[in-house]
Amino acid sequence: MPDTSRPPVPSVSSPAAGTNATRRQALMGGAVALGAAALGTTLGASSASAATSTPRGPMISDPFTLGVASGDPFHDSVVLWTRLAPEPLAEDGLGGMPDRTVEVEWQIAENERFSRPVASGTVVTGPDRAHSVHIEAQGLRPRADYFYRFRVAGRISPVGRTRTAPVPGARLDRFAFAMASCQSYTHGLYTAQAHLAEEDLDLVAFLGDYIYETADQGEIGRGHVPPVEVRSLAEYRMRHAQYKTDHDLQAAHAAFPWAVVFDDHELENNWADDTSYEEDIPPEEFLQRRENALKAYYEHMPLRAAQRPAGPDLHLYRRLVFGNLVDMHLLDTRQYRDAQVEDDERGDPDRTMLGADQRRWLSRGLSESNATWNVLAQQVFFSQRDFTEGEPTYFSDDAWDNYKVERDAVRDELARVGNAVVLTGDVHANYVVDVKADFDDPGSATVATELAGTSFTSGRDGVEQHPGDAIQLQENPHIQFINRNRGYVRNTLTPTEWTADYRVVDQVSRPGAAIRDRARFVIESGEPGARPLV
Ligand code: FE
Ligand code: CA
Repeated sequence: MPDTSRPPVPSVSSPAAGTNATRRQALMGGAVALGAAALGTTLGASSASAATSTPRGPMISDPFTLGVASGDPFHDSVVLWTRLAPEPLAEDGLGGMPDRTVEVEWQIAENERFSRPVASGTVVTGPDRAHSVHIEAQGLRPRADYFYRFRVAGRISPVGRTRTAPVPGARLDRFAFAMASCQSYTHGLYTAQAHLAEEDLDLVAFLGDYIYETADQGEIGRGHVPPVEVRSLAEYRMRHAQYKTDHDLQAAHAAFPWAVVFDDHELENNWADDTSYEEDIPPEEFLQRRENALKAYYEHMPLRAAQRPAGPDLHLYRRLVFGNLVDMHLLDTRQYRDAQVEDDERGDPDRTMLGADQRRWLSRGLSESNATWNVLAQQVFFSQRDFTEGEPTYFSDDAWDNYKVERDAVRDELARVGNAVVLTGDVHANYVVDVKADFDDPGSATVATELAGTSFTSGRDGVEQHPGDAIQLQENPHIQFINRNRGYVRNTLTPTEWTADYRVVDQVSRPGAAIRDRARFVIESGEPGARPLV
């Protein structure tokens, strides 16, 4: 078992006063000096010794205002991320960095004192990537804890902790991960993220709506920066930087590797492929906005080089494997989907959510899987949800119901592979759902399980249920549970059972809410469908 010691909480100071010119000069001077400096264990001693490596001039302000992160663990490597931004909200989107390249040192070690370093290096970053840094640290041991940090211009970053995956196929007795989504900055404090950082997890799966694109200023003093709907690259960069300045979010990133997928609000509400949902604009115009959004997204996430965008395209769908226990298929339900249609067209057999390539990739991955648990980590609601009492029926046009034929085909493949669990974000609510062989026949077999996780903050404080939820439960007997508090879902997997703990906070509008277990459901291996554990 990995050790349970916690990483140091990132300590990030506010930018000091000073002119851009002074700060930029100092940064450059420091970077030059760093190039020759060896990154050894002496580096880690203290900020005092670090300061002496800045050759001249006043102390620059902290470039690590956005914290550090790690992600997409393999058995021998993991992504390490940071972005240099001494002035994170600078209006040009460049975070107060000089308009030129800078060298950044990185280091990963077996212990948080860095006396047992295992890999290190120096990389060059620059304004073309908003001075973001993506390292794929190689040569690591499987299922091991590591600590990492960065240094630039004599400044050392907060320390992050991460964990590699087991060797694919190797016996694994326990895997714990949280699923989370939807963290509107304006809707709430990141109290749930702070609690998340205190868990003992192998991974956090973030299922979309990492930022919101809106001009919303909210009611709790956390208005969006810039105060407009973001469209340009500079604006998307500013928005991501604003979210990343939150220390509770930084703590959650510094504590575990994350596997992230985007949903719609990283770009625009309900977008589909090259089509805006909100505006009647030509595809070329929308694709330029998509390029801006996805470039800024990549710059701010711990993603591998395979996910580096090319123009408006970002290859998001990918698979993470954890020993013989879990195959996690991370899906993209935005870039390749057909545009939303009215309910009377949702049964068109040609409609696709995944696109042909991703669909084939998923089918192959499911059919070749030897894992105990097969997980679809994805964005929008998978199972049928009829929102109205009696006739006529009404379904969400943005969810899998609007792509019914493909949904049913994927459902049939999940039934064949067995022990399939669909994870869902987007709906700002907790759900537990029996995935049925025929959603219109409550007596048909349950073939898989869908677990939807509530939002971190989106929707503000949250309630137990909405008035309409009684109708949802009545019209959709395969839905077992609905709850609309804020929080996340902690999943603990073993070869024999999957335990889902629905962890909630009672409000996010004021600081200090405690975390509590709202519900616990268990799925037994070989028996699709979750059962409440009282
Ligand atoms: Fe959302
Ligand atoms: Ca959404």
